Amino acid sequence: MSGKRVIVVGGGLIGLSIARALTERGIEDVLVLERHSLASGGTGKSSGIVRAHYGVPSIAAMAWRGVPLFEKLGATVGFRQVGYSVIVGEENEAALRANIAAQQALGIEAEMVDVDRFAPMWPMMNVDDVSAVAYEPRGGYADATQLALYFGQVARDKGARVRQNTAVARLLTEGEKVTGVELASGEVLQADAVIVAAGWWSAKLLADVGVDFPVEGYRSELLIVDAGLPLVDLPVVSDLVSLQYCRIEGTGQFLVGNSDHDEPENRFVDPDHYSNLASEASIEKYAEKVMHRFPGFPDPSITHSYAGVYDVPPDWNPVIAPVGPAGLVLAAGFAGHGFKISPAVGDLVADLLLEGDSTDADIPAADFRLERFAEGRPLTSLHPYVGAGEMR
Ligand SMILES: Cc1cc2nc3c(=O)[nH]c(=O)nc-3n(C[C@H](O)[C@H](O)[C@H](O)COP(=O)(O)OP(=O)(O)OC[C@H]3O[C@@H](n4cnc5c(N)ncnc54)[C@H](O)[C@@H]3O)c2cc1C
Repeated sequence: MSGKRVIVVGGGLIGLSIARALTERGIEDVLVLERHSLASGGTGKSSGIVRAHYGVPSIAAMAWRGVPLFEKLGATVGFRQVGYSVIVGEENEAALRANIAAQQALGIEAEMVDVDRFAPMWPMMNVDDVSAVAYEPRGGYADATQLALYFGQVARDKGARVRQNTAVARLLTEGEKVTGVELASGEVLQADAVIVAAGWWSAKLLADVGVDFPVEGYRSELLIVDAGLPLVDLPVVSDLVSLQYCRIEGTGQFLVGNSDHDEPENRFVDPDHYSNLASEASIEKYAEKVMHRFPGFPDPSITHSYAGVYDVPPDWNPVIAPVGPAGLVLAAGFAGHGFKISPAVGDLVADLLLEGDSTDADIPAADFRLERFAEGRPLTSLHPYVGAGEMR
């Protein structure tokens, strides 16, 4: 395989991590094609949260595999190891305990902590309605664009080529095999394998070769809040009571994301055409939640808002698998979780191409097959949270 030509469509975190993994494993002829500039898709909007708290064991294992890389790269990718916490109400206490036990069984460093012990770790937080907390000391946040560019640099150093402003118009096949791609310019590029890592846009390329990839563009709004004092080194919070997630921004401000995924169809958009600002109604709702959870902020105000789009398959989990004609692999549908697992996704795709299967027993390739949707066997959390199923 090492002499084979591989084309990767999409220069986001996933495509670049795949290029990195392939070149690290000795495949030199790797070409990444990106229609705009690197990290200009979902990657550029990512909140960059690092945590292994997932109810799907293979996803938790993937996230955990990435932690040593974040620790090794540190400031190169803006990693701040401030810890990660999940706070829940009574209705989710049992699920939280079960998830932590399952994660510990995978070797993940996570634990339940008493609310009283947690409260001083986040001095301005109201914990009156919090009945249980889990804490991951090796979690935190980093910068998704920096990580994507790091993957791209490693791949280039090992021989990969990257072409930006180069849109793929269609996949080319001969008989039952993929043979390359045709660019929007009309140029034809031959390859022995093509990996489609083009997020939501993957569906269109696949449809042309008869592969149905069900995926929606899900608009997600974010607020940047000035607390009235600079915030420093406080843990990331997944607040499953108010359904929001929060972390410090490097500037000392506060980033707040929405975790209320009720009625998702109301947020489905075309990722090429969507509003990049939170609506007035959303801002009002999110501000109320922030005030409720963080009454200790001395003089809170909203600095600005923006929005990004998740690529969401029916079970909110990715497809990372061979699809359609021989030599074609899909890696998309990361639904707001692809940042932290991107190192492991690259390694899994390299395994699929070089070994034909995952080499990591905790990350079975079968979990990520496309056929699971048609078979009615979605990949779901073992211990889902009431009101926050997509937390997984
Ligand atoms: C608002 C937001 C917050 C998030 N927060 C987190 C978080 O805290 N933690 C976490 O783990 N994950 C998070 N995520 C998810 C994570 O950022 C994404 O899963 C990940 O960045 C997706 O990477 P990707 O490479 O699959 O997709 P993208 O970054 O979208 O890359 C796909 C690329 O393909 C290119 N492309 C499309 N069509 C073509 C074509 N025809 N030819 C050539 N190129 C093409 C696009 O231009 C794009 O650059 C978040 C995502 C968003 C939107």
